[in-house]
Amino acid sequence: MTRVKSAKSIGFCSGVRRAVNIVEKTLSESKGKVYSLGPVIHNPEVIRRLKRQNLCIVNSIDGLEHSSTLILPSHGTPSDILDKAVKKRLKLVDVTCPNVSVLQKTCGLLHKQGMEVIIVGDRSHPEIRALLSFAGKAFVIDKAGGIKKNVFSGKKIGIISQTTQNRDSFFEIAAKLLQKNPLVKEVHVYNTICLDTLRRQNEAKELAGSVDTLLIIGSRLSANTKRLLGIGRKINRRTYLVEDSDADFGRLLRGAKVVGLISGASTPDWLVKEVIKKIKNRKGR
Ligand code: SF4
Repeated sequence: MTRVKSAKSIGFCSGVRRAVNIVEKTLSESKGKVYSLGPVIHNPEVIRRLKRQNLCIVNSIDGLEHSSTLILPSHGTPSDILDKAVKKRLKLVDVTCPNVSVLQKTCGLLHKQGMEVIIVGDRSHPEIRALLSFAGKAFVIDKAGGIKKNVFSGKKIGIISQTTQNRDSFFEIAAKLLQKNPLVKEVHVYNTICLDTLRRQNEAKELAGSVDTLLIIGSRLSANTKRLLGIGRKINRRTYLVEDSDADFGRLLRGAKVVGLISGASTPDWLVKEVIKKIKNRKGR
């Protein structure tokens, strides 16, 4: 018989829950079409549900008519697109997570204070693309290995982090930056990883060390889900990503007496419940 140990932090985080609630309310109250600039959150199952409720996803606002309703996603929107949307007099529904807004403000402040802003994060992630629009000429770093010597000599630097960054990598990169730039004039380090992310990372570590197999429920498109997978795998090689309840649980859980479950921040509770049901009902367990 397999025992299931679920993390406390499972299902939507507060920022994603807030975003999905606002989008659903907007969809139910709106008479016209409701558009979203890219996916509101990074979970295809949730996006499919919202599309069934008539959400139209667009990649550009150019084709939208004046006064159309536009949802701005949870990971933030670049400032030039925001300005364009205001000029177009679109009805904006901004579901940017409050933690992301704080990060954007911190970034803008560091830039105004004359610092070189260094963002520890994934350059291709939309949160970082939006963040860069608030930071002037900023640097994005995702690996300690790529840091060059003395790039910031004599300069003031502000180091901040993507909200869903791996905490250990963030501190490693910040330390390496200082080691390689001993002549930096002034350093400010802000740990802007959100609390929910930190909790999930801690729980993933604890679970990985105490179960036979750890399942991370979430989409491969989600940055924080992929980071949980990496954290779990470092400790327990039997850590697997489960994107939906159709996964081959017989294979993944072969021989496992205790299975740990945790999810990415954009994984809905109903998907977690479906996975638990499948695990408990599987044959030959
Ligand atoms: S993971 Fe953190 S920053 Fe991202 S949406 Fe959730 S609460 Fe907000």
